[in-house]
Amino acid sequence: MSFTLAIVGRPNVGKSTLFNRLVGKRLALVDDQPGVTRDLREGAARLGDLRFTVIDTAGLEEATDESLQGRMRKLTERAVDMADVCLFMIDARVGITPTDEVFAEILRKRSKHVILAANKGEGSAADAGVLEAYGLGLGEPVRLSAEHGEGLNDLYSQLMPLADAFEEKAKEAENEAPELDVDVGEEDEDAPRPITDAKPLQIAVVGRPNAGKSTLINQILGEERLLTGPEAGITRDAISVRRDWDGVPMRIFDTAGMRKKAKVQEKLEKMSVSDGLRAVEFAEVVVVLLDAAIPFEQQDLRIADLAEREGRAVVVAVNKWDIEEDRQGKLKMLREEFTRLLPQLRGAPLVTVSAKTGRGLDRLHAAILKAYAVWNRRVSTAQLNRWLAGMLEQHPPPAPQGRRIKLRYMTQAKTRPPGFVVMCSHPDKMPDSYSRYLVNGLRDDFDMPGTPIRLHMRGQS
Ligand code: GDP
Ligand code: GDP
Repeated sequence: MSFTLAIVGRPNVGKSTLFNRLVGKRLALVDDQPGVTRDLREGAARLGDLRFTVIDTAGLEEATDESLQGRMRKLTERAVDMADVCLFMIDARVGITPTDEVFAEILRKRSKHVILAANKGEGSAADAGVLEAYGLGLGEPVRLSAEHGEGLNDLYSQLMPLADAFEEKAKEAENEAPELDVDVGEEDEDAPRPITDAKPLQIAVVGRPNAGKSTLINQILGEERLLTGPEAGITRDAISVRRDWDGVPMRIFDTAGMRKKAKVQEKLEKMSVSDGLRAVEFAEVVVVLLDAAIPFEQQDLRIADLAEREGRAVVVAVNKWDIEEDRQGKLKMLREEFTRLLPQLRGAPLVTVSAKTGRGLDRLHAAILKAYAVWNRRVSTAQLNRWLAGMLEQHPPPAPQGRRIKLRYMTQAKTRPPGFVVMCSHPDKMPDSYSRYLVNGLRDDFDMPGTPIRLHMRGQS
């Protein structure tokens, strides 16, 4: 089951660039098919393991006559009606224009699902525009760079739950058909319906070969293991399995399964790394699985660091705990090593498990939920600025060349992971040590252990 996504927005924001990126070489121009005008381009799009149809409304820029506004409205409305989801794109470097407001209005009235994208989001010139985008009242903007291919994982995160919902709806429709002949009785009218909007939490289990990833995933999934995804060319895409784990819907990216399917023995090592990378790209929470006998190998450190840099929530799980003899001593050693080797993941949970026996899986489950919650945490602007005042008082910012850097105002620009913007004078002169002081303070005072925290200093022009 596939769905249709329409990319809408005023000319020049980058719609075609995104369209081309999603469609790649598989571009299927359908201009000459009946019922589709020249203005709308359609293509088969691919994003991670998602397959869908994408409609581009970019034909607009050629219309330079005064009826542009009217044509734009018509075209957009048509695209909106054809689509299941609309991606409304603005140019983050320009900010919100009156024309953007017109689009926002159409979408609010007409579209069931809108994803707001702030494009040209690479670099700090886009910070202000991304903040402004919140003001449209269309939810949290996805910060994108269509040109550089950045932010596609965030786009994926917003599309995935919708895709799941469409899939379930389609299944429901299929299942309903034969039942039409059956007398279902009146009480069924009120029968609870499956929750189709519950968004599965996306997790990836990564780690070196033989750490126990397959065993762990099988343990989580139970007996009837299901691999979804196309059979051919399977190694190039992340494969995911959707399951409830202790009542929480999850989508588990299965890197181990991919590797096994490839069956190319010599390539094992190399592939497991790149598979891991791909899984990290799509996950919200990354479980780094270590083998208790050989923890914190180079490969483990690399993937944990990557997960942090990609802004994922990280949980470290130490496997094969069942065969460990000196558990207390080992745990102490592991904690020390963790602090020393992965300081960037300060406070991230470390849990011991046995994938084989299933022991510790409840703790892993709890740690994943906690890490996910922290990753999603939002702190109000009022709270932040009260907090900032206290931090400044306790430890004033430095004064390079006798001129003190002034920190004026602070706001949380995004979640997943938490990202903050501080307006200040001379952001380029701010030493890293002061930023670290603020980041560590945020961690401690707002209870955000383990999650990557981004802090951007921005000057005021
Ligand atoms: P459309 O009219 O909305 O379809 O916009 P286009 O896709 O034609 O893009 C308009 C211009 O913006 C082109 O010059 C693109 O190269 C540029 N552009 C698109 N995406 C990005 C981006 O992410 N960053 C930057 N800096 N430029 C972009
Ligand atoms: P993968 O390469 O990371 O997917 O690792 P596998 O799941 O294939 O496991 C590698 C080996 O470790 C297998 O022989 C498993 O039986 C074993 N193994 C996995 N988890 C555990 C565990 O918790 N305890 C013990 N004792 N062995 C385990």
